[in-house]
Amino acid sequence: MGCPNCGGDELAFPVPDAVREFLPDDRPAATLCATCLWVSPADDAPDEYPDFTRVSGALPSDGETGAVVAVLLALLDRLVVHRADAEAVATEAERRGVDVLLVLDRLAADDGLDPHLDLARRRRQLEQLI
Ligand SMILES: [Zn+2]
Repeated sequence: MGCPNCGGDELAFPVPDAVREFLPDDRPAATLCATCLWVSPADDAPDEYPDFTRVSGALPSDGETGAVVAVLLALLDRLVVHRADAEAVATEAERRGVDVLLVLDRLAADDGLDPHLDLARRRRQLEQLI
């Protein structure tokens, strides 16, 4: 099964407890597309967090923290509807030592990606929230 948006390879990850309540879908896992950064809910959670740096060196090397950032990417895609949730997840990522605005800058600059969302625009919108 590939990404529903671009057909690319996906990375499956468990949704961290700390941010699960902020996702519109309450399934235990999700997948992140390694090409377009599309996030889909998934039923089967892998036992361990994957290495998100396989998607981009811009993502945190700590798997659980990477998963928090992936959840943020899911919410940024629908930021208008999920403002408060995105703000809460961004705050959780920052609490774990992630500079989320810098991560978005670096993802936008990563030539290995073809993001389906306008990262520069979402970054500006997020900057106004946090
Ligand atoms: Zn994709």
